[in-house]
Amino acid sequence: MKKKIVIIGGGIGGLSAGIYALKAGYDAEIYEKNAVAGGECMGWNRKGHHIDNCIHWLTGTDEKTSLWQVWNTVGAIDKDTKYADTEKFYSTIYNGVEAILWNDLDKTEKELIAISPEDEAEIKKFIEYTRYAESCTIPAEKPMDMMGVKDYINMGKSMANMPKVMKEYGKINLREFAARFKSPVLRKLMMDYLPADYTAYSFLVSYGTMTSGNGNIPLGGSLAMTNRIVKKFKDMGGKLYTKAPVKSVIIENGTAKGIELESGDKVFGDEIISAVDADFLFKKLLGKEYMTDEWKKAFADRKAYPVTSGFQTAYSINDDFSGQDTIFFDCDPIKIGNKSYDRIYIKNYGYDKSFAPEGKAVLQTCISQTDDDYAFWKSLDKETYKKTKEELEEKIRAAVIKQFPELDGKMELLDVWTPMTYVRYCNAYHGAYMSFVTTVGTKQLRVKGTFKNVSNFYMAGQWIMSPGGLPIAVISGKFAIQRILKKEKRSIDI
Ligand SMILES: Cc1cc2nc3c(=O)[nH]c(=O)nc-3n(C[C@H](O)[C@H](O)[C@H](O)COP(=O)(O)OP(=O)(O)OC[C@H]3O[C@@H](n4cnc5c(N)ncnc54)[C@H](O)[C@@H]3O)c2cc1C
Repeated sequence: MKKKIVIIGGGIGGLSAGIYALKAGYDAEIYEKNAVAGGECMGWNRKGHHIDNCIHWLTGTDEKTSLWQVWNTVGAIDKDTKYADTEKFYSTIYNGVEAILWNDLDKTEKELIAISPEDEAEIKKFIEYTRYAESCTIPAEKPMDMMGVKDYINMGKSMANMPKVMKEYGKINLREFAARFKSPVLRKLMMDYLPADYTAYSFLVSYGTMTSGNGNIPLGGSLAMTNRIVKKFKDMGGKLYTKAPVKSVIIENGTAKGIELESGDKVFGDEIISAVDADFLFKKLLGKEYMTDEWKKAFADRKAYPVTSGFQTAYSINDDFSGQDTIFFDCDPIKIGNKSYDRIYIKNYGYDKSFAPEGKAVLQTCISQTDDDYAFWKSLDKETYKKTKEELEEKIRAAVIKQFPELDGKMELLDVWTPMTYVRYCNAYHGAYMSFVTTVGTKQLRVKGTFKNVSNFYMAGQWIMSPGGLPIAVISGKFAIQRILKKEKRSIDI
């Protein structure tokens, strides 16, 4: 009889585990609390429009990478996938000057030097090191602890330029990196996209992913991609149970035996994989006694291991809006809790015609939020929460119109959501989009996802490796299955 793998959570990590389990010849069942699978890789419809809430860029769209193979195996993308025709990473407006990070590095270099000739040396260095960072890919063949000498040599060769990037930008955060530029708009440009405490190298790697062509947005968006993965899982014979929230993991004598659902039903399996948020796993499903010191330390230290989320709004606008792609700009101070924000960004989804009726486009805004903001949102009662959202939305709309007067009277509200939305929908720790932010001087959290005090139990999902994100989620599912195969002394080449 085939072994049965029971998977908790139908996000990208859980779906990937399911597909790789089937590929390895096991039976696979996924239990997902929501009505649809996908977790944070999600989109939803409002007033005839589609709000795409995840993929700003999908790393692993270069067919030469091992990550592409994984995305292809789970049915997310293939050689015929069409991507958004975007030329820019994003742009920043400050004091009336616009600076753009184009996907074409030569163009970026030329334009940034024209904006600030006195920063020429720093700009050239930034461009040179972004080119080096293009070589950074996510090893997706097998978990690093299963890699042999040959694998390390190959990885070293393919990422030969990364040590230079780490040496130059691995020990400073984005605030310090931005301070190297004299031009105020360039300083903003370097700090707008990621939280200021992020290590500078992560920013170069992100930009390098775009410029190398290894980061793209599949047309149809996040939900369409999720649905392709779900279809693949089902077509392969996998069973997906939705509206099936899991209450706990059944452990007997140090061995995971199954799961108990909130309904009281019990499901037994040979191997159990959790692909839910790490905090939720330890606090609710498994118990804090299974938390290693590494996890305890990270969750206790909100400064060294912050997480990020967002306060977001979405509008229907006319598709003749000239503001393209993602633009950051100043706004009059907007207070959220006891913090004040003076930067905001809009993202124009006009690149995907399937998201809006003809002649229309979806415009989203976001103010980045972190742990403190989550505490504020959580403290609100239902009425105040609703009122706060409404008041903030008005201020945000006013800020957008101040920057782009042509949108006055032309923004129809579609939706407003907060960090609490991700808590409610995905049980996400503090509403986190990804896992812990990589800050300077902090050891990046990376776990095998196995436990000393419980056998037949594995952890998948983006939390196994900071900073998380879709690539980590998808490889984590594969890695969990490879650990099972290794335990059975079978080949891990799947
Ligand atoms: C606004 C936004 C933008 C993003 N942009 C990008 C981007 O551009 N690029 C990128 O790489 N990443 C991006 N991400 C991150 C990406 O979405 C996540 O890294 C990824 O989807 C996480 O997948 P996961 O499977 O690890 O976790 P999740 O998606 O959280 O999946 C966990 C699943 O478990 C389910 N679950 C929770 N509790 C239970 C329970 N008790 N019982 C059963 N099921 C349960 C949840 O409902 C969920 O479906 C973004 C995220 C957000 C929110």
